[in-house]
Amino acid sequence: MFPEFTLRYANFPERFYARFDPVPVKAPRLVAFNRPLAEALGFDLSAYDEAAATEWLSGNRVPDGAAPLAQAYAGHQFGNFVPRLGDGRAVLLGEVTDRDGRLRDIQLKGAGCTPFSRGGDGRAPLGPVLREYLVSEAMQVLGVPTTRALAAVTTGERVVRDVPVPGAVLTRVASSHLRIGTFQYFAARGDSEAIQQLADHAIERHYPDLADITSAGERYLALFEAVQVRQAALVAKWMGLGFIHGVMNTDNASIAGETIDYGPCAFMERYDPATVFSSIDQGGRYAYANQPWIAQWNLARFAETLLPLIDDDQQRGIARASEVLEAYPGRYEAEWLAVMRAKLGLSEAAASSEAADRELAESLLEAMQAGRADFTLTFRRLCAAAEGEAQEKDLVELFERAEPIQAWLTEWRRRLAREDVESSEIARHMRLANPVYIPRNHRVEEALAAAIDEGDFAPFERLMQVLARPFEERAADIDYAQPAPPTARVFRTFCGT
Ligand code: AMP
Ligand code: MG
Ligand code: MG
Repeated sequence: MFPEFTLRYANFPERFYARFDPVPVKAPRLVAFNRPLAEALGFDLSAYDEAAATEWLSGNRVPDGAAPLAQAYAGHQFGNFVPRLGDGRAVLLGEVTDRDGRLRDIQLKGAGCTPFSRGGDGRAPLGPVLREYLVSEAMQVLGVPTTRALAAVTTGERVVRDVPVPGAVLTRVASSHLRIGTFQYFAARGDSEAIQQLADHAIERHYPDLADITSAGERYLALFEAVQVRQAALVAKWMGLGFIHGVMNTDNASIAGETIDYGPCAFMERYDPATVFSSIDQGGRYAYANQPWIAQWNLARFAETLLPLIDDDQQRGIARASEVLEAYPGRYEAEWLAVMRAKLGLSEAAASSEAADRELAESLLEAMQAGRADFTLTFRRLCAAAEGEAQEKDLVELFERAEPIQAWLTEWRRRLAREDVESSEIARHMRLANPVYIPRNHRVEEALAAAIDEGDFAPFERLMQVLARPFEERAADIDYAQPAPPTARVFRTFCGT
């Protein structure tokens, strides 16, 4: 039933990780299993055996061919450098080759105290495990690069946070768990050899085209640029969905360009660029509107680790890397504009100028902020409005002040008139860029609470089912498209680690 492991990280030198077998749990129960993902990873589901799967996915039995380990990494947490973080509760079982021939990491999160646990208990509460499961799978179908959730197992043990709560293990799948923080770990130790090994691995795994660049300095500079391109595209996608990651520390910045580490993440309802959800983000460092610039800050930290590989002459290396880094704002803005054009039904070809389209997108956001309009519903209702002025009512209703949005709609219609396609076709395209269903915080909380308090996973399963097809409006699911009622509004999210 299980695919074969292709061990890669376990074959790196010992200083890259600590070998560590998952600590068995008392009474594992499989509460979620992602069959389509399992199939894509090469599981033989015709031989599916739940008992065996549960043993494996809880960490109670190490599958044949796996070589469990906790990865070493460092990271800037809220701007402060911590030279040794590492997997404090996650265990990499190994890599498998998926049906597309790509290597994918299989990691158990919540698998016990590793040598990197510091003060932590090595475990994960059920709530955050289900949150990561729900949100990462939702991100995937929303078209955002992300780690995936293969399974969730309850452990039959309690973990103590503010109060004792049920424990769980999440099986996370990633293109890799290489982080900016992984490079920083070795940079902090002056270990250039390790950085080169990591960089070569990153190129081989995520950016194979770069392997052909013969000059080593150019190749590693190109790696920096390639990671930057993916980060810019990733954050632009987050912004287009109103997604707030919440903990954009460098240890949570993936070299593969995937969204990783769903802690206090949340989707914004009423549009406000200063929105912060995370209870630990006191200064608002990781507020919605800061995300593109935090990604750039993180990339600068990545570049610093690569300097010894880029040029023997440090000053020259810094100059080359800075040149690349300076291209980030333009690159990010271009990605953001592409996202916003798709959301607004505008094609690049029909634009009078890039600046005009950018301004149009920005002025909608301003109207949304002034009108305290729901982010997701605004864009979705705009799809209908593309079909004609008669369809504007539902949209305008979302705004506390109608005037700015009405003025904006006039501008938008003027711009839409340049498009060379039927309005029904524009609306159809917009409906593929603007979801009806996102993991609304109160729905997520409700699903988690039922599972934690009553052991009732039906709301979780129902929400998963709704989120599986986010772009298709269904009458039976329409409640899931609604913002939280005033009594259920979520203002704060917790890591719950
Ligand atoms: P995060 O905030 O999730 O990015 O985690 C930051 C660091 O804390 C990482 O090194 C984690 O492995 C570690 N960590 C988080 N939760 C726990 C826990 N319950 N036990 C041990 N280490 C943890
Ligand atoms: Mg993390
Ligand atoms: Mg975390």
